[in-house]
Amino acid sequence: MGLRTAEQYRASLRDERVLWYQGKRVECVLDNADLRVAVDHSALDFEVGHNPQYRDLAVATDPDSGEDYSAYYRIPRTTEDLLARMRLIELTTALGGTLLSIKDVGSDAMFALLGLLQGEERERIQAFYDRARANDLAVAVAQTDVKGDRSKSPSQQADPDLHVHVVDSSDEGIIVRGAKVHTSLTPNCNEILVLPTRAMKPEDADYAIAFAVTPDTPGVAMYVSPYSAGERHPWEFPASSKHKMLETLTVFNDVFVPWERVFLYRQPELAGPMALAFVEYHRFTAVSYKLPLLDALVGAAAEIARMNGVISAGHIRDKLTQLVIYNETVRTLIEAAARRGKIGADGYCRPDSATTNIAKYTFATGFHDAIRAVQDCAGGLLVTGPGGHDWDNPEIRPVLEKYFAAAAPAAERLAMINLISDLTVKDFGGYHAVLAVHAEGSIEAEKMQIFRAYDSARPLGLARRLAGLE
Ligand SMILES: Cc1cc2nc3c(=O)[nH]c(=O)nc-3n(C[C@H](O)[C@H](O)[C@H](O)COP(=O)(O)OP(=O)(O)OC[C@H]3O[C@@H](n4cnc5c(N)ncnc54)[C@H](O)[C@@H]3O)c2cc1C
Repeated sequence: MGLRTAEQYRASLRDERVLWYQGKRVECVLDNADLRVAVDHSALDFEVGHNPQYRDLAVATDPDSGEDYSAYYRIPRTTEDLLARMRLIELTTALGGTLLSIKDVGSDAMFALLGLLQGEERERIQAFYDRARANDLAVAVAQTDVKGDRSKSPSQQADPDLHVHVVDSSDEGIIVRGAKVHTSLTPNCNEILVLPTRAMKPEDADYAIAFAVTPDTPGVAMYVSPYSAGERHPWEFPASSKHKMLETLTVFNDVFVPWERVFLYRQPELAGPMALAFVEYHRFTAVSYKLPLLDALVGAAAEIARMNGVISAGHIRDKLTQLVIYNETVRTLIEAAARRGKIGADGYCRPDSATTNIAKYTFATGFHDAIRAVQDCAGGLLVTGPGGHDWDNPEIRPVLEKYFAAAAPAAERLAMINLISDLTVKDFGGYHAVLAVHAEGSIEAEKMQIFRAYDSARPLGLARRLAGLE
């Protein structure tokens, strides 16, 4: 199959998966208007593969068979491959209204497991990857457990199910129980790849597991978060009326997983390295998919300042300059993470860990300041402006056109206000703000990894030499 069409992807979602949304069972993700927005958004990743304009970035060709497959599944082997992956993620996120699409996260996890595992487990993940690539599957990753009391390890929790764990095993496979949370893309994926969320000690061995299930596996239940629910007028919500990602509480009620789908079984010493191996790729993806959002903020701030007639004001120029510095710093850092990528003994090229985490940290800690600068340039209309139904009404529109014109016609100015409001103020804006801080790991997690991964030989050597110690 190689490259599926968007329609083939949509058709693959009609199965028995158990979805709960807004207090009710949803029979099929395709038939619910809110959830369908997420399906159509994710379909972008399939559309680019068939669009000649994007072929160079979106399609890879197997050198042996000559068969095309999605470039998302190309294992990076050079720094150029990493840059190409960054550009593909940037492309689909820009087409996707600043929201990442569906093939990024799963491919990050598969690369990590392929690079880490040995022996039989390596063969299993190879077979899983080969099938995902050949069938162009959309793979979600459930890593974050509900976790309970954060000061306690999995086995110390009052309820043993607060991290996903194994409860039984047989010659056929294992039975797992527990719940993951914030799991993106599960309602509209083809596979859920489950990874450990943290390092584990020997007493946590039952929790040191990794496996894959299809979303319709008996015992898997998904409870979909309702953020950005309900009808959205496309004029009022130019991005979030068309683009959406779904997160679930993903519950495993004594789910049977056959051995060929188990990639880690009661090996606590590998839980930490596995979590980290995923994050090594995933934070690179994370910053790559932020680039269109940052470009959109810079562009929107400059445009609204011009439309408001304040583009020449000194303090506005200062804010725009700060936004440009922030945007270009993040971009330069993630490009540097790719260029500094290291090729391991396995032939895989991994982005430089310290630089990737510095990029993610710079993005996450600067985001709220950037939002404030954009909102400052835009003015209070971000929350007091008219709605889409007002704009559609021929009796009201002339009033809006007359009174909201500034240095640009009202139609343009209000369109830009609506974009900024959608991206920074309303529920999609709130989602972006929390995504910035927490998704792909919290700010503290990034700092920890910067400290661990930074190669201090150069500064230490210089300091010692200047001090006359060598
Ligand atoms: C929109 C969105 C999408 C996401 N998608 C996915 C996904 O697809 N798959 C997935 O697996 N995960 C996903 N995540 C989860 C994301 O990785 C987590 O939100 C992140 O790791 C933080 O975990 P948490 O939300 O449980 O917060 P917490 O871990 O509770 O963090 C809250 C605060 O407590 C601190 N903290 C936590 N534990 C400790 C401790 N032991 N000691 C000291 N301080 C501590 C943190 O640093 C932070 O400041 C997503 C998150 C978001 C917001």
